[in-house]
Amino acid sequence: MNLHLYDSPTFRMACQQFDLVADFMNIPEAARERLKMPKRALSVAVPVRMDDGSVKVFMGYRVQHHLTLGPTKGGIRFHPDVTVGEVAALAMWMSWKCALVGLPYGGAKGGVACDPRSLSAGELERLTRRYTQELIPVIGPQVDIPAPDVGTNEQVMAWIMDTYSLQMGHAVPGVVTGKPVLLGGSLGRREATGRGVAYLVSRAMDTLGIPAQGATAVIQGYGNVGSVAAVSMAKQGIRIIAVSDAFGGIHNPAGLDLNRLNEHVAAKGTVTGFPESEAVTNAELLLLPCDVLVPAALERQITEENAARIRCRILAEGANGPTTPEADAILAQRPEIFVLPDILCNSGGVIVSYFEWVQDLQSFFWSEGEVLDKLFRLLEQAYMQTLNHARKNGVSMRFSALSLGIRKVHEAKSIRGLYP
Ligand code: GLU
Repeated sequence: MNLHLYDSPTFRMACQQFDLVADFMNIPEAARERLKMPKRALSVAVPVRMDDGSVKVFMGYRVQHHLTLGPTKGGIRFHPDVTVGEVAALAMWMSWKCALVGLPYGGAKGGVACDPRSLSAGELERLTRRYTQELIPVIGPQVDIPAPDVGTNEQVMAWIMDTYSLQMGHAVPGVVTGKPVLLGGSLGRREATGRGVAYLVSRAMDTLGIPAQGATAVIQGYGNVGSVAAVSMAKQGIRIIAVSDAFGGIHNPAGLDLNRLNEHVAAKGTVTGFPESEAVTNAELLLLPCDVLVPAALERQITEENAARIRCRILAEGANGPTTPEADAILAQRPEIFVLPDILCNSGGVIVSYFEWVQDLQSFFWSEGEVLDKLFRLLEQAYMQTLNHARKNGVSMRFSALSLGIRKVHEAKSIRGLYP
């Protein structure tokens, strides 16, 4: 198979994970390629008029991994390092994630290679609208439904919804999830990923018999996932001793005061420089002793270089793809570390995105209590299935989660058959 278009460390990593699971499941060679290769990829040039009058062209992508079970679903990332290969890997992970938790979607992902922090609000809006315009032939409530990811937020989703709706001539809230509640967003969507991480951490602590009182957590990435996970875990009695963002990290073994920290972040735009703490680098932060380590930033952070030296009991993957297959091989020799794999651990986001889409299609909206109740029910089911399957087959939690997800897509493709 020629991987040329997608070839990148992250896509190779997603393929490597898939191949290991496919070997274990004895999936025939021909079916593997069909399962693995993204169905469609669109690459677009996004010209943007900058505030100084110049025009800058940004590269944007949308990859739809499989269309077997329904429309495709997945976030849009604005980050300088975005490539089509990274987007394809993230789309593949979305497929296994949606299948694992039982959502009627294939995976997708999109991205624009840009640094949103260096753009003005006007530039960001023009970039978002033009990227959306280029995507119009391939997105829609029955086709492909974007959502937030690294570097995008509710405002960006509102601009996507507006741009799409103007083309259609009527409001189409179901084209995107993670919108402001006023525009058809769901209560609880913004917090869903972080709350889901905290829920699964508490389930893992039950499984291992670790009491929340006295437990400690370290979080890499203090964005929408990491910051909400921190607050939710603190509510359970877990002490948050270190957090970081793209600028660096902060550490206080006595526990960080999250209310004060959140005020600091609102004022300064970063966790760094927070008074009651010492500075640590992102690399040092991953090695701090703690009960729960939450990588909630970018992929490929736990590698063969540091996997033998992380000192946690639970590795809760809030990010997508934070652990490389080489690191997994090292973790396999460290049974004292319990892994909540990304496609399970961060699935709360896409679960509530699904609820948002259902509410939009029906124009019938739920209370926050209903959303949370349904979210925790789906997470519980996925957690128990993954744990039981892992124990029964003597495989890791990641292997278990991936094989449950891949098996569903494989079976669905077999039942639908191959046309013509
Ligand atoms: N970007 C999130 C993820 O990686 C959410 C996707 C969605 O809600 O569609 O799971």
